[in-house]
Amino acid sequence: MLIIKTIAELKTALNQEQFGIKLGLVPTMGAFHRGHISLIKRAVQECDRVVVSIFVNPLQFAPTEDLDKYPRQLATDSRCCEELGVDIVFAPTVSEIGITGDTATQNQITTVTPPATMTSGLCGQYRPGHFTGVATIVTKLLNIVQPDRAYFGQKDAQQLAIIRRLVTDLNLSVEIIGCPIIRETSGLALSSRNQYLSTQEKSQATILYRSLQQVARAFFQGETQAAQLIKIAQEQLTTVSEVRVQYIELVDPVTLKPLETIVTQGLFAIAAYLGTTRLIDNIVLRQPIIAIDGPAGAGKSTVTRRVAEQLGLLYLDTGAMYRAVTWLVMNSGIAVDDENAIASLVKDVRIDLVPPDSPEMPIGVYINGQEVTKAIRTPEVTANVSTIAAQAAVRQELVKVQKLCGEKGGVIAEGRDIGTNVYPDADLKIFLTASVAERARRRSIDLKNQGQENIDLQQLQQDIANRDHQDSNRAIAPLKKADDAIEILTDGLTIEDVIAKIVALYQNLVVM
Ligand code: AMP
Repeated sequence: MLIIKTIAELKTALNQEQFGIKLGLVPTMGAFHRGHISLIKRAVQECDRVVVSIFVNPLQFAPTEDLDKYPRQLATDSRCCEELGVDIVFAPTVSEIGITGDTATQNQITTVTPPATMTSGLCGQYRPGHFTGVATIVTKLLNIVQPDRAYFGQKDAQQLAIIRRLVTDLNLSVEIIGCPIIRETSGLALSSRNQYLSTQEKSQATILYRSLQQVARAFFQGETQAAQLIKIAQEQLTTVSEVRVQYIELVDPVTLKPLETIVTQGLFAIAAYLGTTRLIDNIVLRQPIIAIDGPAGAGKSTVTRRVAEQLGLLYLDTGAMYRAVTWLVMNSGIAVDDENAIASLVKDVRIDLVPPDSPEMPIGVYINGQEVTKAIRTPEVTANVSTIAAQAAVRQELVKVQKLCGEKGGVIAEGRDIGTNVYPDADLKIFLTASVAERARRRSIDLKNQGQENIDLQQLQQDIANRDHQDSNRAIAPLKKADDAIEILTDGLTIEDVIAKIVALYQNLVVM
């Protein structure tokens, strides 16, 4: 691992890398805790090369803030990076990064100012200039390193939303990855500033998360009014008299505009002082997303459909989506193997799934506004759907549609890469599986019920093992178990058992 302090050296080191390598950047101010480590681990997992920047950015501290006493521990942080498999630690000085470090002379350099609508609320109103400081340095780092992906924590939700926006507005070609908040077992969100807290203060600080949990409980019981949710948090927070609340707000997680009521999702955020230490925490309120992945023949589609029914979630029937695109292609008179024509046909395609009135009815499917619920079930569509589904452009476009469907939450989906690719931030991830022998046994019963005799169980086992191998090694959307997925081995379990397990896990999640 290299520890680099200058931009010139960094450029040389990066230029030596081969073309086509996926480069990840984790910008930090150092003083690592498990929050930083989670970002770094994810970057190392997802990228070929990882740069971690460690830079205490003076532009984001007001003169009255803790710039001088902010913890600095480059040697320990670098050792930690090395152990985690980081390639380069970039730790520039203030002058190397091209700023004066003095807020008074900051107006002598070009700065990046996020839209006022995103900085006028939450921390922005109490930390004037803070997000201009963050946006300026992050833009510089993105330009210097030019990563394919950059990793930020949801802990700083306003920062994350602003960075996503600046990347869009300034046409930067980097993918911003938001990572979940890492907490102590007490619930306290990890922060470099927790070092300032005494043991007693640490325990008092847990009231922030406990308040957020109360708010989440109320939300899942149907409360969507900002005023009510804020009142619940206020009441909780007053139970610890040492905590001085700075703000409690409910905003849209993307635009950061204040919400009066939650229609799809809301970012509920708190800032409070404990002594002289300022703490922030937040939670995104939305109906949960459940991702179910697993090998073929594990009973995913039946289980998913039934769980959706029981919990009142939208069953994201991805198969119906591929059928709808197949219908669209056939209806447009395009050959099913004309990948280029299909790629432009499906660009920005709109697919809507409408839950049926009764569970026996199929889900309503609309493509570009036209209802195709029945039309997608013809033998002609069935015959062509796998050719269409194998095309990268189709897959890419449909993953986009699926992600969009998930934005509102309240969705359950099954497949091979739902928890790893489509909904990496799903609230509950299940890996549903069964041994090859068990799946062969179930398949043989199905075949017998369909009137087949002389079933070769050995052959069935071989076929299933081959299919598993194929699915795990596909170029597009291979079967992968997410690290945070809960595995359910269904050998010896009935469908009802499996459904009950998933419903229990869901309820545990909702009630917390
Ligand atoms: P900082 O060093 O405080 O600037 O943080 C560097 C990155 O780590 C930022 O993207 C933070 O949002 C992220 N981060 C800080 N605390 C946590 C946490 N408890 N969980 C997850 N990410 C975090």
